[in-house]
Amino acid sequence: MTRVPTRRRVPRPARASAGLLAVAVLVAGCSGTDAPGTGTPSAGSPPTSAPAPGAVSPDAAGSTPPPPPTPPQSPEPPEPPRPLAGRVVVLDPGHQLGNARFPAEINRGVDAGGFTKACNTTGTASDDGYPEATFAWEVAVELRRQLRRLGARVLLTRDDNAADAWGPCIDERGRLGNPGGPGPTADVRVSIHADGNRASSAHGFHVIRPGRRDGWTDDVLAPSERLAVALRDALVAAGFTPSTYLGVDGIDVRTDLGTLNHSDVPVVMAELGNMRDPRDADVMERAAGRQRYARALGAAIRAFLTG
Ligand SMILES: [Zn+2]
Repeated sequence: MTRVPTRRRVPRPARASAGLLAVAVLVAGCSGTDAPGTGTPSAGSPPTSAPAPGAVSPDAAGSTPPPPPTPPQSPEPPEPPRPLAGRVVVLDPGHQLGNARFPAEINRGVDAGGFTKACNTTGTASDDGYPEATFAWEVAVELRRQLRRLGARVLLTRDDNAADAWGPCIDERGRLGNPGGPGPTADVRVSIHADGNRASSAHGFHVIRPGRRDGWTDDVLAPSERLAVALRDALVAAGFTPSTYLGVDGIDVRTDLGTLNHSDVPVVMAELGNMRDPRDADVMERAAGRQRYARALGAAIRAFLTG
């Protein structure tokens, strides 16, 4: 089991690292259907007191023992589908709730893909004060639950959303799950964010895929573009509106994002909406809305990995 070093300054008690726990616990579907032969007899069933055909009459049992009862037929219930069994997904919930309390740490420069950029930022918030870090975390946890049910192994780039913690930096978020790293190799990486644009008409989601940076992103450009399309299509199918202010048809291309540049597996960053837009914020602040986002992302990841 691998934990991601987050370089926190505040000592924290040991806790279960559910974020990196690789076991995909599958809750077997306790279906409401009865196994054959175990249900209540339907109306019109023959009485069960009559001797079964071939049974030996008690009157004739003097010398012939009755045959042993036939064990009931109880076929194994069908396995729930696990279309993502054996697949590894990295989810990167953007920012960290405590980042604003650690300006020195998050402002220090890190390699963002051949150039230096701040380790991280504080993220945005809705006008109601709902932080992007919390939104991203809650969507990621719900998405992890859904992906595990499909059999995937899910790694999160941070273990919690603590107000007294910071990090990790963007380079670390971009490298987790890369081939040759200390942990399992990921099949896909999705970074979850929300935007904070104050223009009154700025509304909707956009998916950012990496642009070409030779030696950095050229190895994942094509699959990342396919991943971006899968996310865009799934979000549209779920009723979300492509951005009215960035990108083309809900997809943007950037070369300045360390999380994308460091990834050696297909990667996108999903800006799921504009938190400063009241319509988007209203969806983001509701658990049902976050579940809609997670379902759409899960459908996209499934389509990408199995299509
Ligand atoms: Zn963000």
